[in-house]
Amino acid sequence: MQIKSIIGLMVSCSLFLAGCDDSTDSIADAVIDTVETEVEDVIDNIVAVDPSLFALNSLESIEMVDCTLSNGDASTCYSVTVNGFPADRNELGPFCPESTETTAEDAGKWFDGGVLYDLTGSFVSNLSVFYGDSKWQLYDKDTGLVNITDTQLACEAAVRPDVAAEYNNFCVQCDISYYNEAAGEGVSSTYLIPVTPVLRDTPEDIEHTDVGVAFNGVNLAAAAPTQAILSAYTIAAFDDCIGHVNPVAGYHYHGANHGDGTCPAIDYENDGHGGAFAYAMDGFAIHSMLNQSGEEETDLDECRGHSDDNRGYHYHAAGAGENTFIGCFAGEVAR
Ligand SMILES: [Zn+2]
Ligand SMILES: [Zn+2]
Repeated sequence: MQIKSIIGLMVSCSLFLAGCDDSTDSIADAVIDTVETEVEDVIDNIVAVDPSLFALNSLESIEMVDCTLSNGDASTCYSVTVNGFPADRNELGPFCPESTETTAEDAGKWFDGGVLYDLTGSFVSNLSVFYGDSKWQLYDKDTGLVNITDTQLACEAAVRPDVAAEYNNFCVQCDISYYNEAAGEGVSSTYLIPVTPVLRDTPEDIEHTDVGVAFNGVNLAAAAPTQAILSAYTIAAFDDCIGHVNPVAGYHYHGANHGDGTCPAIDYENDGHGGAFAYAMDGFAIHSMLNQSGEEETDLDECRGHSDDNRGYHYHAAGAGENTFIGCFAGEVAR
Protein backbone atom coordinates (compact mmCIF):
# COMPACT_ATOMS: atom_id res chain seq x y z
CA MET A 1 0.00 0.00 0.00
CA GLN A 2 2.90 2.28 -0.71
CA ILE A 3 0.84 4.01 -3.40
CA LYS A 4 -1.73 5.03 -0.85
CA SER A 5 0.75 6.92 1.28
CA ILE A 6 2.26 8.68 -1.72
CA ILE A 7 -1.15 9.68 -2.99
CA GLY A 8 -2.02 10.83 0.51
CA LEU A 9 1.02 13.06 0.40
CA MET A 10 -0.10 14.52 -2.89
CA VAL A 11 -3.57 15.17 -1.58
CA SER A 12 -2.38 16.89 1.55
CA CYS A 13 -0.01 18.89 -0.63
CA SER A 14 -2.90 20.06 -2.77
CA LEU A 15 -4.89 20.95 0.33
CA PHE A 16 -2.06 22.91 1.90
CA LEU A 17 -0.41 24.58 -1.04
CA ALA A 18 2.05 26.63 0.97
CA GLY A 19 5.49 25.09 0.82
CA CYS A 20 4.47 22.53 -1.76
CA ASP A 21 6.22 23.96 -4.79
CA ASP A 22 9.68 22.68 -3.94
CA SER A 23 8.47 19.16 -3.36
CA THR A 24 6.26 18.79 -6.45
CA ASP A 25 8.96 17.12 -8.54
CA SER A 26 9.96 14.70 -5.82
CA ILE A 27 6.32 13.74 -5.27
CA ALA A 28 5.96 13.03 -8.98
CA ASP A 29 9.13 10.94 -8.95
CA ALA A 30 7.98 9.06 -5.89
CA VAL A 31 4.63 8.28 -7.47
CA ILE A 32 6.33 7.06 -10.62
CA ASP A 33 8.86 4.93 -8.71
CA THR A 34 6.12 3.40 -6.63
CA VAL A 35 4.00 2.57 -9.61
CA GLU A 36 6.90 1.05 -11.51
CA THR A 37 7.65 -1.33 -8.69
CA GLU A 38 4.05 -2.28 -8.11
CA VAL A 39 2.87 -2.60 -11.70
CA GLU A 40 5.62 -4.62 -13.27
CA ASP A 41 3.63 -7.65 -14.21
CA VAL A 42 0.66 -7.98 -16.48
CA ILE A 43 -1.58 -10.42 -14.66
CA ASP A 44 -4.41 -11.96 -16.65
CA ASN A 45 -4.15 -9.10 -19.14
CA ILE A 46 -4.92 -6.54 -16.44
CA VAL A 47 -2.67 -3.58 -15.68
CA ALA A 48 -3.52 -1.39 -12.69
CA VAL A 49 -4.25 2.30 -13.23
CA ASP A 50 -1.07 4.41 -13.07
CA PRO A 51 -1.93 7.71 -11.37
CA SER A 52 1.41 9.25 -12.35
CA LEU A 53 0.20 9.47 -15.95
CA PHE A 54 -2.04 12.41 -15.04
CA ALA A 55 -0.37 15.79 -15.62
CA LEU A 56 0.32 17.25 -12.19
CA ASN A 57 -0.98 20.67 -13.22
CA SER A 58 -4.30 19.12 -14.25
CA LEU A 59 -4.91 17.52 -10.85
CA GLU A 60 -6.71 19.03 -7.91
CA SER A 61 -6.53 15.80 -5.92
CA ILE A 62 -6.25 12.06 -6.29
CA GLU A 63 -7.00 9.57 -3.56
CA MET A 64 -7.96 5.95 -3.07
CA VAL A 65 -11.53 5.36 -1.91
CA ASP A 66 -13.88 2.43 -1.43
CA CYS A 67 -16.26 1.97 -4.34
CA THR A 68 -18.83 -0.46 -5.73
CA LEU A 69 -18.47 -1.72 -9.29
CA SER A 70 -21.26 -2.22 -11.80
CA ASN A 71 -21.30 -5.97 -11.00
CA GLY A 72 -21.99 -5.19 -7.33
CA ASP A 73 -18.51 -6.08 -6.09
CA ALA A 74 -16.83 -3.92 -3.49
CA SER A 75 -13.58 -2.53 -4.82
CA THR A 76 -11.05 0.28 -4.52
CA CYS A 77 -11.13 3.22 -6.89
CA TYR A 78 -9.07 6.30 -7.54
CA SER A 79 -11.13 9.41 -6.98
CA VAL A 80 -9.48 11.74 -9.46
CA THR A 81 -10.40 15.43 -9.37
CA VAL A 82 -9.11 17.42 -12.32
CA ASN A 83 -9.39 21.15 -12.96
CA GLY A 84 -10.77 20.51 -16.44
CA PHE A 85 -8.44 22.78 -18.44
CA PRO A 86 -6.11 20.93 -20.84
CA ALA A 87 -2.73 20.88 -19.10
CA ASP A 88 -0.91 20.88 -22.44
CA ARG A 89 -2.48 24.08 -23.79
CA ASN A 90 -2.65 27.78 -22.90
CA GLU A 91 -5.90 28.68 -24.60
CA LEU A 92 -8.92 27.03 -26.19
CA GLY A 93 -10.36 27.51 -29.68
CA PRO A 94 -10.79 28.89 -32.23
CA PHE A 95 -14.29 27.48 -32.63
CA CYS A 96 -16.74 29.27 -35.00
CA PRO A 97 -15.48 31.10 -38.11
CA GLU A 98 -16.09 34.86 -37.87
CA SER A 99 -17.17 35.27 -41.46
CA THR A 100 -17.63 33.44 -44.73
CA GLU A 101 -14.03 34.43 -45.54
CA THR A 102 -12.45 32.75 -42.49
CA THR A 103 -9.87 30.08 -43.30
CA ALA A 104 -9.09 26.84 -41.46
CA GLU A 105 -6.30 28.44 -39.47
CA ASP A 106 -8.75 30.74 -37.67
CA ALA A 107 -11.63 28.29 -37.36
CA GLY A 108 -12.37 25.02 -35.61
CA LYS A 109 -13.96 21.76 -36.73
CA TRP A 110 -17.27 20.00 -37.31
CA PHE A 111 -17.85 16.32 -37.99
CA ASP A 112 -20.47 14.35 -39.83
CA GLY A 113 -20.68 10.81 -41.14
CA GLY A 114 -17.33 9.91 -39.58
CA VAL A 115 -15.47 12.73 -41.32
CA LEU A 116 -13.81 15.67 -39.56
CA TYR A 117 -14.22 18.94 -41.48
CA ASP A 118 -12.53 22.33 -41.13
CA LEU A 119 -15.31 24.68 -40.06
CA THR A 120 -14.21 27.39 -42.49
CA GLY A 121 -16.27 30.28 -43.79
CA SER A 122 -16.80 28.41 -47.04
CA PHE A 123 -17.98 25.28 -45.17
CA VAL A 124 -20.54 27.45 -43.34
CA SER A 125 -21.66 29.11 -46.60
CA ASN A 126 -22.21 25.70 -48.12
CA LEU A 127 -24.34 24.15 -45.30
CA SER A 128 -27.62 24.27 -47.24
CA VAL A 129 -26.00 22.19 -49.97
CA PHE A 130 -24.09 19.97 -47.55
CA TYR A 131 -27.25 19.06 -45.65
CA GLY A 132 -29.63 19.39 -48.63
CA ASP A 133 -31.86 21.83 -46.73
CA SER A 134 -32.36 25.43 -47.82
CA LYS A 135 -33.26 26.53 -44.25
CA TRP A 136 -29.55 26.60 -43.36
CA GLN A 137 -28.43 30.24 -43.26
CA LEU A 138 -25.75 30.62 -40.61
CA TYR A 139 -24.44 33.99 -41.82
CA ASP A 140 -25.64 37.45 -42.81
CA LYS A 141 -26.02 37.58 -46.58
CA ASP A 142 -25.02 41.26 -46.76
CA THR A 143 -22.00 41.32 -44.46
CA GLY A 144 -20.86 37.68 -44.61
CA LEU A 145 -20.59 37.69 -40.81
CA VAL A 146 -21.43 34.36 -39.15
CA ASN A 147 -24.14 34.31 -36.44
CA ILE A 148 -22.19 33.34 -33.30
CA THR A 149 -23.48 32.94 -29.74
CA ASP A 150 -21.09 35.46 -28.25
CA THR A 151 -22.63 35.95 -24.79
CA GLN A 152 -23.23 33.53 -21.91
CA LEU A 153 -27.00 34.04 -22.30
CA ALA A 154 -26.88 33.19 -26.00
CA CYS A 155 -24.63 30.16 -25.63
CA GLU A 156 -26.76 28.70 -22.86
CA ALA A 157 -29.99 29.31 -24.80
CA ALA A 158 -28.48 27.58 -27.84
CA VAL A 159 -27.10 24.48 -26.10
CA ARG A 160 -30.42 23.58 -24.44
CA PRO A 161 -32.19 20.55 -25.90
CA ASP A 162 -35.12 22.77 -26.95
CA VAL A 163 -33.25 25.57 -28.67
CA ALA A 164 -35.21 28.83 -28.77
CA ALA A 165 -36.19 29.69 -32.34
CA GLU A 166 -34.21 32.94 -32.17
CA TYR A 167 -31.05 30.84 -31.91
CA ASN A 168 -31.75 28.69 -34.93
CA ASN A 169 -29.06 29.23 -37.54
CA PHE A 170 -26.30 30.04 -35.06
CA CYS A 171 -22.80 28.73 -34.75
CA VAL A 172 -22.66 27.88 -31.04
CA GLN A 173 -19.66 28.55 -28.86
CA CYS A 174 -19.41 29.09 -25.10
CA ASP A 175 -16.40 30.77 -23.53
CA ILE A 176 -14.74 28.89 -20.67
CA SER A 177 -14.41 32.20 -18.80
CA TYR A 178 -18.17 32.08 -18.10
CA TYR A 179 -17.56 29.12 -15.81
CA ASN A 180 -14.44 29.90 -13.83
CA GLU A 181 -12.75 32.77 -12.13
CA ALA A 182 -9.21 32.53 -13.41
CA ALA A 183 -7.56 32.17 -16.80
CA GLY A 184 -6.21 28.69 -17.50
CA GLU A 185 -8.83 27.00 -15.36
CA GLY A 186 -11.73 24.86 -16.42
CA VAL A 187 -14.69 23.30 -14.68
CA SER A 188 -13.43 20.81 -12.12
CA SER A 189 -14.80 17.26 -12.16
CA THR A 190 -14.25 14.12 -10.13
CA TYR A 191 -13.94 10.67 -11.73
CA LEU A 192 -14.15 7.34 -9.91
CA ILE A 193 -11.91 4.83 -11.70
CA PRO A 194 -11.27 1.24 -10.51
CA VAL A 195 -7.62 0.89 -9.37
CA THR A 196 -7.47 -2.58 -10.89
CA PRO A 197 -9.80 -2.97 -13.87
CA VAL A 198 -12.15 -5.97 -13.95
CA LEU A 199 -13.15 -7.40 -17.35
CA ARG A 200 -16.90 -7.93 -17.83
CA ASP A 201 -18.42 -11.08 -19.30
CA THR A 202 -20.33 -9.02 -21.84
CA PRO A 203 -19.35 -5.48 -22.79
CA GLU A 204 -21.52 -2.56 -21.74
CA ASP A 205 -22.85 0.03 -24.18
CA ILE A 206 -21.80 3.62 -23.63
CA GLU A 207 -24.81 5.88 -23.87
CA HIS A 208 -24.99 9.09 -21.94
CA THR A 209 -22.13 8.60 -19.51
CA ASP A 210 -18.63 10.00 -19.54
CA VAL A 211 -16.26 7.77 -21.49
CA GLY A 212 -13.23 8.69 -19.40
CA VAL A 213 -10.71 11.38 -18.60
CA ALA A 214 -7.56 12.38 -20.48
CA PHE A 215 -4.22 12.59 -18.70
CA ASN A 216 -4.30 16.34 -19.42
CA GLY A 217 -7.41 16.70 -17.26
CA VAL A 218 -10.09 16.95 -19.97
CA ASN A 219 -13.38 15.05 -19.97
CA LEU A 220 -13.94 12.41 -22.66
CA ALA A 221 -17.64 12.98 -23.22
CA ALA A 222 -20.40 10.74 -24.51
CA ALA A 223 -21.30 11.21 -28.17
CA ALA A 224 -22.40 14.74 -29.10
CA PRO A 225 -26.18 14.77 -29.85
CA THR A 226 -25.63 15.78 -33.45
CA GLN A 227 -29.20 15.09 -34.60
CA ALA A 228 -30.62 17.51 -32.00
CA ILE A 229 -27.93 20.08 -32.80
CA LEU A 230 -28.55 19.94 -36.55
CA SER A 231 -32.35 19.87 -36.25
CA ALA A 232 -32.12 23.30 -34.57
CA TYR A 233 -29.98 24.54 -37.48
CA THR A 234 -27.03 24.99 -35.17
CA ILE A 235 -23.42 23.87 -35.34
CA ALA A 236 -21.83 23.20 -31.94
CA ALA A 237 -18.35 24.15 -33.12
CA PHE A 238 -15.32 22.17 -31.93
CA ASP A 239 -11.78 23.46 -31.86
CA ASP A 240 -9.02 21.57 -33.67
CA CYS A 241 -8.75 19.19 -30.70
CA ILE A 242 -12.44 18.23 -31.15
CA GLY A 243 -13.32 19.91 -27.89
CA HIS A 244 -15.81 22.59 -26.94
CA VAL A 245 -17.34 24.14 -23.83
CA ASN A 246 -20.75 23.60 -22.30
CA PRO A 247 -22.09 24.92 -18.99
CA VAL A 248 -22.09 21.53 -17.23
CA ALA A 249 -18.91 19.76 -18.31
CA GLY A 250 -16.85 22.83 -19.20
CA TYR A 251 -14.29 22.01 -21.90
CA HIS A 252 -14.69 18.42 -23.09
CA TYR A 253 -13.63 16.24 -26.01
CA HIS A 254 -15.81 14.40 -28.53
CA GLY A 255 -12.89 12.76 -30.28
CA ALA A 256 -9.12 12.43 -30.32
CA ASN A 257 -7.26 14.26 -33.06
CA HIS A 258 -3.85 12.70 -33.42
CA GLY A 259 -3.98 13.07 -37.20
CA ASP A 260 -3.28 16.70 -37.99
CA GLY A 261 -2.96 17.63 -34.35
CA THR A 262 -1.47 16.20 -31.24
CA CYS A 263 -4.40 16.49 -28.97
CA PRO A 264 -4.46 15.19 -26.45
CA ALA A 265 -0.65 14.91 -26.54
CA ILE A 266 0.81 11.40 -26.83
CA ASP A 267 4.21 9.78 -26.83
CA TYR A 268 4.43 6.69 -29.02
CA GLU A 269 5.69 3.73 -27.01
CA ASN A 270 9.23 2.37 -27.41
CA ASP A 271 8.03 -0.36 -29.76
CA GLY A 272 6.12 2.16 -31.92
CA HIS A 273 2.76 1.21 -30.45
CA GLY A 274 0.15 3.99 -30.21
CA GLY A 275 0.57 6.20 -27.15
CA ALA A 276 -1.91 6.31 -24.27
CA PHE A 277 -3.71 9.60 -23.55
CA ALA A 278 -6.61 8.76 -21.23
CA TYR A 279 -8.25 6.31 -18.88
CA ALA A 280 -11.70 5.01 -19.69
CA MET A 281 -14.13 4.89 -16.75
CA ASP A 282 -13.44 1.15 -16.39
CA GLY A 283 -9.73 1.82 -15.73
CA PHE A 284 -8.38 0.57 -19.06
CA ALA A 285 -6.09 2.99 -20.90
CA ILE A 286 -7.06 4.52 -24.25
CA HIS A 287 -4.24 4.75 -26.80
CA SER A 288 -4.04 6.65 -30.08
CA MET A 289 -5.85 5.12 -33.04
CA LEU A 290 -2.68 4.68 -35.07
CA ASN A 291 0.81 3.46 -34.28
CA GLN A 292 3.98 5.38 -35.08
CA SER A 293 3.94 4.05 -38.66
CA GLY A 294 0.39 5.35 -39.16
CA GLU A 295 -1.22 1.93 -39.06
CA GLU A 296 -4.31 0.82 -37.14
CA GLU A 297 -4.28 -2.35 -35.02
CA THR A 298 -5.97 -5.23 -36.86
CA ASP A 299 -7.21 -7.31 -33.91
CA LEU A 300 -9.47 -4.86 -32.06
CA ASP A 301 -12.69 -6.19 -30.50
CA GLU A 302 -16.09 -4.47 -30.61
CA CYS A 303 -15.00 -2.12 -27.79
CA ARG A 304 -11.91 -1.21 -29.85
CA GLY A 305 -9.71 -3.05 -27.34
CA HIS A 306 -7.06 -5.74 -27.47
CA SER A 307 -4.33 -7.19 -25.24
CA ASP A 308 -0.62 -7.71 -25.42
CA ASP A 309 2.04 -8.83 -22.98
CA ASN A 310 3.37 -5.35 -22.26
CA ARG A 311 0.18 -3.38 -21.91
CA GLY A 312 -2.50 -5.88 -20.96
CA TYR A 313 -6.02 -5.06 -22.18
CA HIS A 314 -6.36 -1.51 -23.55
CA TYR A 315 -8.33 0.47 -26.11
CA HIS A 316 -7.42 2.35 -29.27
CA ALA A 317 -9.38 5.52 -30.04
CA ALA A 318 -11.76 5.69 -32.99
CA GLY A 319 -11.22 8.06 -35.91
CA ALA A 320 -11.25 11.80 -35.22
CA GLY A 321 -14.60 12.34 -36.96
CA GLU A 322 -16.48 9.37 -35.52
CA ASN A 323 -18.09 11.11 -32.51
CA THR A 324 -16.83 8.37 -30.20
CA PHE A 325 -13.67 7.15 -28.51
CA ILE A 326 -14.28 3.46 -27.88
CA GLY A 327 -17.03 1.03 -28.86
CA CYS A 328 -18.11 -0.10 -25.39
CA PHE A 329 -16.83 -0.66 -21.86
CA ALA A 330 -15.04 -4.01 -21.67
CA GLY A 331 -14.64 -3.60 -17.92
CA GLU A 332 -16.81 -2.86 -14.91
CA VAL A 333 -17.26 0.81 -14.13
CA ALA A 334 -17.82 2.28 -10.65
CA ARG A 335 -21.44 2.83 -9.77
ZN1 LIG B 1 -20.13 18.53 -26.29
ZN1 LIG C 1 -2.73 -1.70 -28.58
